[in-house]
Parts: sequence; structure tokens; C-alpha cells
Amino acid sequence: MQTVKTAAALSKSLSGLPGPVVLVPTMGALHEGHGELIRHARQIAGTQGTVVVSIFVNPTQFGPGEDYTIYPRPLAADRQYCKSLGTDLIFLPSAAEVYAPDHSVFIEETRLSKGLCGASRPGHFRGVCTVVLKLLMMTRPQMAVFGEKDWQQLAIIRRVVRDLNFPVQIIGCPTVRESDGLACSSRNANLSPAEREVAPVLRKSLLEAADAAAQGETRIAILRRKILRAIEKNAPNAAVDYVEIVHPETLDPVKKLQETALIAMAVRFSKTRLIDNILISTPKK
Ligand code: AMP
Repeated sequence: MQTVKTAAALSKSLSGLPGPVVLVPTMGALHEGHGELIRHARQIAGTQGTVVVSIFVNPTQFGPGEDYTIYPRPLAADRQYCKSLGTDLIFLPSAAEVYAPDHSVFIEETRLSKGLCGASRPGHFRGVCTVVLKLLMMTRPQMAVFGEKDWQQLAIIRRVVRDLNFPVQIIGCPTVRESDGLACSSRNANLSPAEREVAPVLRKSLLEAADAAAQGETRIAILRRKILRAIEKNAPNAAVDYVEIVHPETLDPVKKLQETALIAMAVRFSKTRLIDNILISTPKK
């Protein structure tokens, strides 16, 4: 496994490695969720192809006062983990390598980015789209793998790639969870023991709503209220940022449940903001 730190070195290394090239963009502090993405990348690259994992804590996607400076950076463990999963190349650029001091170009998706996390984190998706496009330009992979845990991000990246005619296949992977249902996240480590204990209520409340939908409940207000009540009851100190029921692709709010919808949520435990989502469906006919 090679590690390269510049776009020039990445390009040089890739010119000697066989395709297909599959990219897994991450911010490091790797956990089982990232692990699943890398395993999937290894599988679709085949024994011949090349798996590239990028590790870059992207400053432009963090707002003022967010956790950019304290975001965990356990590099030695990340490298070891990537190696154990059959990664061929780690791309580990510095912020100065990715952004020229006078950089002035951003990529902005203007529709799907408006609601959900986009509403509470202004500029976040502009930073995400910019860095992802830059990583795609630098790596020129045939495929890139992203997690469904960040459903809105995945939908936005698909849109960017489609609307800019970027020649890459975007592949989504299901959310990986701890044994109690909490979605794996680098930020889980920031929860206090008491917060960690109650955090699985996010998943439980989503499952309850999915269950109600499967039993025939189509009223959005009722489904939302179920979730909010469960969180309030089990995690009274948590602050709900949003719980929304939206169309899975357009991310437009759904007025009444018809067929399939996505419930997406963001909840704060002190300074730790966790997100999760679930697809729900009306009863099968
Ligand atoms: P991050 O390092 O948090 O920027 O995440 C890098 C990639 O890993 C993104 O595509 C995320 O959606 C994905 N990811 C993060 N957590 C999980 C998880 N629990 N299950 C599946 N994918 C995940």
C-alpha cells in the first residue's frame, strides 16, 4: 500500500496502477462504516483494479464554531485499517495541497442542498461538492463509493456528477451500525457515556415510524410526532435539529406517504451532532 500526499504524486502512482480505479473519499477516523465502503470498493475493483482511499478533513465544509480543529485524526490506526482491507493507495493531502491560498472557485448544488442539513449548516454542501469534485478530478476514478448514512450528501453528489457530466459511477453503500443500532460515526467518540447510552433512540424511533408506515399510517404529522416523542422521552437532553420526511431523490417534503419516502434526522447531544435516516414504505399490496 502506497501513501501519497500531493496531486502530482497521486497522478504519477495511478499511471502505473491497473484500472478500474475506485475512490473512497473519507475524512479519516475510520470506523466499520468506512470499512464497509472500502471492502465494497475492493470487491468492485476486483483483484486487478486499484482502490484509493482519500483521507482529508476538508476545512471548507465546516462552518465557524464547528468541530474542524478538534476533528479526530488518528492517522497510524487509519493507515493500518486501510491496509488490512486491501487498499492500494492512500491519498493524504494537506489543506494547502487541495486549496491554493487564493482559490476562488466553488461547486454549488442549488436545489437538493437547501433543506435538511443544508438548512442548519449553511455552506456545508458547497464545501462537500467542491472537495468531492476536486478529489474526483485528481483521482479520475471509474467509480466512487459513498455511504447512505449521509443520504443527502449522496443525492447531491449524484446530482453534481450528472449535471456536470463527470464520467464516474457513484455507488451508495448501506449504513453500518453498532450492535445497539447507533449508526457508526467518527463523532460517536465525542458522546459522554450517558449520551452514548441513550443515542440508539434515534434508530429505534426511526424503526418505530417505519413500522407504523408499514401498518398503514400515511399521515406525516403522526409519523414525525412518534419520532419526536420517543426522542423527548428517552433523551430529554438531546436537541432535535430536524426530523423530516422527504422524497428519497428530490428530497422535497412529502405531504402524505405514498409508496416510499425517506425520514432524515439530525439531533444534537451537547456539541455532538448525529444524523440518521431510514426509507419507509406503505404496506405492500
Ligand atoms: P466521513 O469520513 O464521515 O466524511 O465519511 C466518509 C464516507 O463514509 C461517506 O461517504 C459517509 O457517508 C460514509 N460513512 C460514514 N459513516 C458510515 C456508516 N455508518 N455506514 C456507511 N457509510 C458511512
